[in-house]
Amino acid sequence: MTQTSYNPTADGLLRVSKSSFMLYNTCPRKYWWQHIGLPDIREPPTPEMIRGTNIHKIAEAVLTTDGAEKVRKKAYKMLKDMDMHITDMFMDETLASLDEQIRKQFGEYEVIMCEEKISALDDKHNVMLVGSLDGVLRFWHTDDEGNEHEYIALVEVKTGNWSTGKLGRTRRELCFYTKLLHHHSGLMPTHFLYITPDYNPQQDAYKMVDDFRSKKNKHVVQSDIRSGVAWMERINPRSINAFMKAYDRTIEGIQSLDFNIRWNDYYCGQYCSYMVQCEPEMMGLADDPTKEEQG
Ligand code: SF4
Repeated sequence: MTQTSYNPTADGLLRVSKSSFMLYNTCPRKYWWQHIGLPDIREPPTPEMIRGTNIHKIAEAVLTTDGAEKVRKKAYKMLKDMDMHITDMFMDETLASLDEQIRKQFGEYEVIMCEEKISALDDKHNVMLVGSLDGVLRFWHTDDEGNEHEYIALVEVKTGNWSTGKLGRTRRELCFYTKLLHHHSGLMPTHFLYITPDYNPQQDAYKMVDDFRSKKNKHVVQSDIRSGVAWMERINPRSINAFMKAYDRTIEGIQSLDFNIRWNDYYCGQYCSYMVQCEPEMMGLADDPTKEEQG
């Protein structure tokens, strides 16, 4: 095991990203293994992760290039350069179709940010928030009395399976970005826009689409291609309030070096690669390594 003497405020500011925030919330000990206990050990990216990164690049081309034909040419070249799987060759069409449906339903938009890395100081906790935003879009809406309103949507592109559980986690991630963006530029997003190019409503018998659409201030658009859905929702203040409590707890937990083990037989066995490290402690055969290092 790599030994480090970790103090998040000793040599500068603690940096907190969306991933590290979500990681600590999943299990403080997992955060510790990844950032402190075994910081040099990283699992290689899975094929799904590589595919997700590539599709983000196509989404960027779709958002920032004018004209469907230009998008197609640019995305097609990128797909070829990236040697992507043949079924993903249609991803540019899916994203371009979704983009067209978004413009039809919500009107033309201005791209404020796209795939942009930003950081901002949270001086209440003295931490540096960092993140890479998939997109920040400005829309306009004219109400029945002819008054124009502006709204700002934070965009997140999610590949792979999509479910209500993943929607909830993504909403929490976008709450993190809401805070980051507000600290960074004073912008306050009003909406979240989730783009799920792989989601096929037919396989889900439209249940998730219908449930989402039936709620207040939520809208769905579908691509003309076999898969692809975009989900737009007005930000619910309750989501932000719940996030802020979790955020405060997380930062205070990291700064006070609280890296408790959060064992769950199913999750640890199925989804965590640190099970081998945690199991001896769970069985009473090893001490808490986070306390050893602190001591
Ligand atoms: S194995 Fe379980 S308890 Fe250990 S780090 Fe992973 S999630 Fe946390």
